[in-house]
Amino acid sequence: MTDIDRTGLSPGYWRRKSLDDMNRAEWEALCDGCGRCCLLKLEDEDTEEVMYTSVHCRLYDPDTCRCGNYAHRKRLVPGCVQLTPDTIEASAPWMPESCAYRRLFEGRELPEWHPLVTGDPESPRKSGAAMTTGLTPEWEVDDDDLEDFVVKGVL
Ligand code: SF4
Ligand code: SF4
Repeated sequence: MTDIDRTGLSPGYWRRKSLDDMNRAEWEALCDGCGRCCLLKLEDEDTEEVMYTSVHCRLYDPDTCRCGNYAHRKRLVPGCVQLTPDTIEASAPWMPESCAYRRLFEGRELPEWHPLVTGDPESPRKSGAAMTTGLTPEWEVDDDDLEDFVVKGVL
């Protein structure tokens, strides 16, 4: 998640272009900055259901909803997945239901709070969709206790 410049983008381009055909700016602008993908997840071994927790990655900053070291995140957090047209198919099941990349990959529309829809970069925060409060940093939680932080409902 970097600061995103959505100026100069063709209105509604995400409805006309496939993820594969988008240029870098169009691809990056799909990220609504919600921060939901920076929450730790658990997978049910039996059902393969992915459950989100309210525990955030150690690099995530809830005040800004940004990665604290985006440039070096792969080195600092090896499990952080870089979404690209090549990785979206494998990553989509792990992404939040609301994530623009997952939704477009699955043939759905963007969420109503998405800045590309509202024209307001602050709309994820204003709508409450952005992960700003009620979170616990991962350094305060033992791995064995992560289950206690599972978020009820779909993110
Ligand atoms: S969940 Fe998707 S839209 Fe939200 S911050 Fe992560 S990549 Fe961006
Ligand atoms: S390193 Fe952590 S905070 Fe940064 S993008 Fe990856 S999951 Fe989010």
